[in-house]
Amino acid sequence: MNVPLSRPWLGEEEINAVTEVLRSDRLALGPVNQAFEEAFAEMCDTKHAVSVNSGTSGLHLAIRALEIGPGDEVISTPFSFIASTNCILYEGGTPVLVDVDEKTFNIDPARIEAAITEKTKAIIPVHVFGQPAEMDPIMELAEKYNLAVIEDACESIAAKYKGRTAGSIGDCSVFGFYPNKQMTTGEGGMICTNDDRLADLFRSLRNQGRGDSLQWLTHVRLGYNYRISEMTAAIGLEQVKKLPQILDTRRIVAKKYIDGLKHREDLILPYMQDHTEHSWFVFPVRVRAEIRDKMIEGLMARGIQSKAYFDPCIHLQDFYMKEFGFKKGDFPIAESLSNTIIILPFYSLMTDEEIEYVLENFLELIDSFS
Ligand SMILES: *Cc1c(COP(=O)(O)O)cnc(C)c1O
Repeated sequence: MNVPLSRPWLGEEEINAVTEVLRSDRLALGPVNQAFEEAFAEMCDTKHAVSVNSGTSGLHLAIRALEIGPGDEVISTPFSFIASTNCILYEGGTPVLVDVDEKTFNIDPARIEAAITEKTKAIIPVHVFGQPAEMDPIMELAEKYNLAVIEDACESIAAKYKGRTAGSIGDCSVFGFYPNKQMTTGEGGMICTNDDRLADLFRSLRNQGRGDSLQWLTHVRLGYNYRISEMTAAIGLEQVKKLPQILDTRRIVAKKYIDGLKHREDLILPYMQDHTEHSWFVFPVRVRAEIRDKMIEGLMARGIQSKAYFDPCIHLQDFYMKEFGFKKGDFPIAESLSNTIIILPFYSLMTDEEIEYVLENFLELIDSFS
């Protein structure tokens, strides 16, 4: 049996919606994009949602709109996908990293204050693997030091923190729709905010810096082409409608994995908290560092895709070490997560046979290594 790491859940609805757009002659800047944005804002519980062509573009516009540039510092963590700090570099800002919490894998709020300086402009909490970061203390610090908060919610669509939707708490938030994400548009992203001024800026910046009138050849600021097509928006709109179903089925797959693995004392399973609601992005399991890569190889030999995540951490990527002088040992918790986590195959449409096959082989392999 071959079990992939992830699979999107697309069906006739998406195919029909794209076909309808293709027959309409309106391929960009049209009503489907508007409908997609409205549906997304409602899901995220924010006043505005502005579509962009990737999560990375969304993060870039967030940094740009907040006027972060050379000399400014932005606080985030090394245990994330590289786009969550690259966006700071695009504008010449300096990433200031702090270590994560060992259980949630998210930024450790207790470490943030010591990292704040006069140059700090913003915090980017990343809601890693579907678990919302601890937002209350983050927002308190942001208020105390007058910092902006950009939620990188790319992995945690529709997750909840104390009843509030991930992505509705900071000044703005960013989502990504690459095919391994809970919902996908192939490539795509969204920026959400309750701030009218920021929303206008995002709309202008993604659209070549055009002003309110959207006069085609008048550009009031340096902008980009970060727009999505109506075909992309059509897929996105159908996926947002399907999102509750997507998340429910993923929750069921996660439960089956947990039930099949919870008896093992040599594994650390995802940490569940009472005040947060997971949006299952991946299924991470921690094993001993010495056997982690052998496990991944062994699974691969049995047709099962798994991955070391996030390995290496951001601060141990070559160009970060060269540019900022980061080295091994700088962020011991992030590094130990990076050395022990395996993510298992995980998607809405996983069959019981596939889940069983993964569990059986995973347990057999780990026994063979102990
Ligand atoms: C997926 C992801 C992004 C955005 O990725 P794109 O491929 O640009 O859409 C940003 N941050 C995190 C943490 C992600 O997982």
